[in-house]
Amino acid sequence: MHAPIIARSGAATDPGLRRRINEDAFLAEAPLYLVADGMGGHHAGEIASATVIEEFAVFAGRPSLTIDDVHAAIARARRRVDALSTGAGAGAGTTLAGVVIADVDGEGYWLAVNLGDSRTYRLSEGHFEQVSVDHSVVQELVDSGELSLDAAHRDTRRNVITRAIGAGSDGEPDYWLLPAEEGDRVLVCSDGLSSELRHDELHAILVGESDPQAAATRLVHEAMVRGGRDNITALVIDALAVRTRANRSGERDTVPAVAPVDEVDGDTLPRAAAVGGK
Ligand code: MN
Repeated sequence: MHAPIIARSGAATDPGLRRRINEDAFLAEAPLYLVADGMGGHHAGEIASATVIEEFAVFAGRPSLTIDDVHAAIARARRRVDALSTGAGAGAGTTLAGVVIADVDGEGYWLAVNLGDSRTYRLSEGHFEQVSVDHSVVQELVDSGELSLDAAHRDTRRNVITRAIGAGSDGEPDYWLLPAEEGDRVLVCSDGLSSELRHDELHAILVGESDPQAAATRLVHEAMVRGGRDNITALVIDALAVRTRANRSGERDTVPAVAPVDEVDGDTLPRAAAVGGK
């Protein structure tokens, strides 16, 4: 079976201007495009993010993955990161965000996954939107109306997240299944990018740089120019071809993405459940 989405991607990462080590890790190989942003003292964060990416790397080269594949890999990664907490990786944790290529009844879909505040965006048919919803204290304050989007961008609590892999969190991932369109461009990034560049700035760069590697490199460069206060990672994924059923009628719908094992807890967590700053 051929891949339901033929993709071409670019990736760039940099420790930024203020930090000596890069605790971000990523995987950009079909069918997986994932970013993990580690946290924890010493090298704990670096180990946690690398551990999670390593757990997913075994899937590289497959035509597509299922939500069960992703959910099981997260469970395995979580056990490994939790086990780090006794050694050099005490307090280790990481975000995880991105897309994997999925096959739904023979058609190509993006399966987006999120835990934490790394982000997935999609530029599709001229429309640019953030797909993932941050698991963060600031997002909760925006949702409850206590904080404007503008104020959220400057809030000192903006790096405190409410779900993670490790760091004492057992929060479930969120999933979205989005019907892919030929020409789609997906951006996956750590908060080191999204906290330096506004939504419209990300959009302009993605529209202006046609080559995905050039776009990823440019995004990281622009985040450095604006201060580079955190580790910065950007993946840009283009759908060159998407398999659809020839006889389909009308528009395809976003398929409800239900976690297969545990029930997805859609409620935001109480502030006391915040797992840490990065
Ligand atoms: Mn970060």
